This record gives sequence, structure tokens and C-alpha cells, in this order.
Amino acid sequence: MKTLSPDRPTTGSLDRSLLQPYRGSTSVFRCPACAAAGGDRAGNNLKIFDDGRFACRKCQGDQGHRKEIWALAGIRGERDRPETPRERRAREARLRERDREERDREAVLARWRRLAPAARDVVFGAWQGRAWCRSDWRDRLREESPTPLHSDPATHWRQVLTLFESDDLVWCGGLADSGKPEHSANFIPVGELLQRDRPPGPRFSGCAFREGSFSRSACNLSKVRLRLLEADALVGFGDSARVPRQPTDDFERELNRMAAVPLVWSMAKLIGFEVIGLIDTGNKSVHALIRAAEDQSAQCLMFSEFIDPDALLHLTAPLRLPGFPHEKTGELSQLLYLNTNRTTA
Ligand SMILES: [Zn+2]
Repeated sequence: MKTLSPDRPTTGSLDRSLLQPYRGSTSVFRCPACAAAGGDRAGNNLKIFDDGRFACRKCQGDQGHRKEIWALAGIRGERDRPETPRERRAREARLRERDREERDREAVLARWRRLAPAARDVVFGAWQGRAWCRSDWRDRLREESPTPLHSDPATHWRQVLTLFESDDLVWCGGLADSGKPEHSANFIPVGELLQRDRPPGPRFSGCAFREGSFSRSACNLSKVRLRLLEADALVGFGDSARVPRQPTDDFERELNRMAAVPLVWSMAKLIGFEVIGLIDTGNKSVHALIRAAEDQSAQCLMFSEFIDPDALLHLTAPLRLPGFPHEKTGELSQLLYLNTNRTTA
């Protein structure tokens, strides 16, 4: 992780009473903007510096995200003025509302986490069949793909974009292309993007944004089109057979990609979401694109031992577009499976 430096100075700072401190800290908090999008579950993205400036480690430099943090917890240059009774009532009401939302959310998550051991058994049951553990697993997936895949992986980005409506305003670009007014150029209607020879960058959003957006901030989200299931940690090969760990060599990276497929498939079968795309990232994982209703995404969290829950809940996060070389391996990311048939909305 790069060193965290504060964004430009402000004339005020954040109201700590509106923030959730990280393990009793007075300078590290759960980022309210990440939290509003379901992210920062660890609760330590936001840092407030001694002089009152602040930064979110996940969305550093993103002015839209910063504005959202400010809107949720900012106090402008008025720290020394006593609160009026009306302001105090408003602040207390906000706090009560926040606590209620947090309790609701925790109750939902706790319910599904209790099912984690059963979910784990289902996943390991699926692997016992070992049907996927063969060297031609990619060919088999391509053959089963309901939408035939282009033979040239360099054009797979076009195929992924057909999962959107043509007037959807999607974000596309590099990781840092969000948050400043000039980044409005990275928010492009899908129909227009498909006219281009090459998209402006190797990442895209799984959602459509509001007209006029220049930041991937959650407040600009218009429609959720797809969600990401991502499993980067190798399962079943840790010191204890059931403790996931990161793959360390080419063999393990390949094993991890192979293992991601039955994992996603058994989850889909158990919960009932629809797998609409599988992308080989060219490094250590296969990303599954899914359509899932809100309640199903909570159910997916019972697999949080295997998947990255932040990836699933962070709806405006930048996703890898197939057809681009992975920055670590140079290997091209590509589609292995695609279903553009609209069976569910
Ligand atoms: Zn944040």
C-alpha cells in the first residue's frame, strides 16, 4: 500500500462523533463514503491528520469521494462555535439513524455468517468430484459458454460491454481516472464506447452512473448491472487444509484460477444467482461477473472465507476489462464464459 498523504487542506475537519473509530483510535476511522457503498468493512480506510486534514486510503485523490466524506461528516471552520440546540438535535438524529442502519446490516451479515461452515462443506463437496481439475478446463468453459466468444481475446472487452444497455453511462479508464472534472471523459455511454477501436483503459464499472458524473463515488451510481465475485486466496492448500492463503508460484496461480470456477458455480447453485461472465485475469484469479439481487449479495457473504466481500459490496469499484495485459504477468485477461441472454433483470 502506498503512503497515505492528506488531500488539499480544508477550512474545517470531520466531526469525529459521526465516525466509527478503528479499534479506539482517534485518527483512524471507517470511511463513511466507502461504508455508504458497503465497503471498508475492516473500518480503517479514513485517516484524520493532526491538522484536521483527512484522506481515504482506498480512494485517495478522488475528489468526488472526498466530497461525499465531507457531506457525511464534515464541519466547516466552525469547530469552536457552540452547537445550537437545533444542530445538536439534527446531529443526534443522524447518529441514531446511522446506528440503526449499522445494526440492521450487522444482523443480516451475522445471519449469513452463521451458515459459513455449511457453505464451506458444499464448496469442498464440489471439489471432491474434481471434474474441473483437468488441464483443458478453459476449453471446456469456452465450449459451455452460452454466448460464443470471439477467437481474438483482444476484443473480449466489446463482448463484456454488451451486458449493459447501450445508453448506460459506464466508467472506463485507468485506476486513477476518477474524481476530477476532466474525468467526465471516462464516463461514456456504452453505445459510444462500442464505436471506438479501443477503450480508454483496462478497467470498467459494473454499474451505470448518473449523467454528468466525473467520479465513481457511490452517490453517482445510477443502476447496478453486475457484481464481482473475486477469490484471490488459494483455498484448501494452506498449512491447515482449510485455511486459504495467497498463491506463491505459477503452479499455484493456475490452481487458484481453476479452483475459482467450481467455487463460483457451487455458490450460484446454492444461492441462486446468475453467473453471466468469467474473466481469466491473466494472473492468479478468475473473476466472476454475476447478476444478484441485494438480498442474494448478503447471502454470498457466507462464503466470505473464499471470496473478497469488499469486491462484492463495492458496486462502483473498477473491474478488469478483458483484452488487456495483466500488469504483473503481461498475460492477456480474457473471457472464458459469457451469457448475454437476459433471463433475469
Ligand atoms: Zn473511502
